[in-house]
Amino acid sequence: MARVYNFYAGPATLPLPVLEQIQKEFVDYRGTGLSLVETSHRSPEYDAVHNRAVGLVRELLQVPEGYSILLLGGGATMQFGMVPMNLTGGADTTPSVDLVLSGSWAKKAAADARKFATVHTIFDGSDGGFTALPDAGSVRSTAGASYLHITSNETIEGLQWKTFPRVEAPLVADMSSDIMSRPVPVSDFGLIYAGAQKNLGPAGVTVVIIRDDLLDRTPESVPAYLRYRTHADKNSLYNTPPVFPVWALSLVLEWIADEGGLGSVADRNRRKAAALYEAIDSSDGYYRCPVDAAYRSDMNVVFRLPDEEAEKRFVADAAERGMIGLKGHRSVGGIRASIYNAMPESGVEKLVAFMKDFRG
Ligand SMILES: *Cc1c(COP(=O)(O)O)cnc(C)c1O
Repeated sequence: MARVYNFYAGPATLPLPVLEQIQKEFVDYRGTGLSLVETSHRSPEYDAVHNRAVGLVRELLQVPEGYSILLLGGGATMQFGMVPMNLTGGADTTPSVDLVLSGSWAKKAAADARKFATVHTIFDGSDGGFTALPDAGSVRSTAGASYLHITSNETIEGLQWKTFPRVEAPLVADMSSDIMSRPVPVSDFGLIYAGAQKNLGPAGVTVVIIRDDLLDRTPESVPAYLRYRTHADKNSLYNTPPVFPVWALSLVLEWIADEGGLGSVADRNRRKAAALYEAIDSSDGYYRCPVDAAYRSDMNVVFRLPDEEAEKRFVADAAERGMIGLKGHRSVGGIRASIYNAMPESGVEKLVAFMKDFRG
């Protein structure tokens, strides 16, 4: 079997043992005579998978008591609306939220938040072309803000918070592209959300971790599915959950646990990213990473070549050598190597060798 090294930003590469286990168990799930995706979501088989996924999120991220873990549909994009829809209720005056405008995904979160509240942009990275983040220690929430929103890793621009702000308002983070890549102090957050297809599994399930005191701010007018409380009360089994993605999620989380948990996964992620940034920085300017060194992402390594023609050739030549998905996002161009948990070090080593070769 010829598997390529897959550098796509999302959907992204998954651990091979997980794919193989799904293949093995897909048609006849553990001797039940039917597939898990054909099984009632009220069955003991699905129940075990569902609870294993939730339990492993709690265990791996060390989610403290007093937080609920929800498995929802709709992607991270639905959370752009669901967060302000739920969390700005109960404000005495016109609600306001604080937001760090760190890149393309933060911009989308801001656009939906504006439908429910005044958005204070407490940092605007667009002036610098989204190449830096604010110093975490300097971030303050404004008086009366319902929450402060950050994007822990900007998937398109290749920026990542290395430490997190501690603020008065509940801290809300879109962790879609770096959840489970490193330990995080969950108790510093009010709400964390992440679509699955970068680091957790196939698209179709979104993990939400919410501090329980935030469950009851939702205005009456919000429909059942869009209320966090609905899902918290039913262990995310209010309606049919995304059965297949949750199954895959449970296997990916078991794989992370087998790899030694988030500490060892983070060490490996740092080594992979360091090898790529080193290849960029030691290229005498042939490769250039626009991102401020303090905020370079361990998940999405972005860089430019001297011109677009060279970038095109780079992407094509790499693909010929079994390394695919290296084209930067269409909105920014350049090269982007997405190296989530499931990208083995051998894939990064191969890319580094190719970068040296290509430069000549
Ligand atoms: C991919 C991504 C999203 C969008 O996720 P969907 O699941 O497609 O809605 C949002 N935020 C970040 C940081 C992402 O990387």
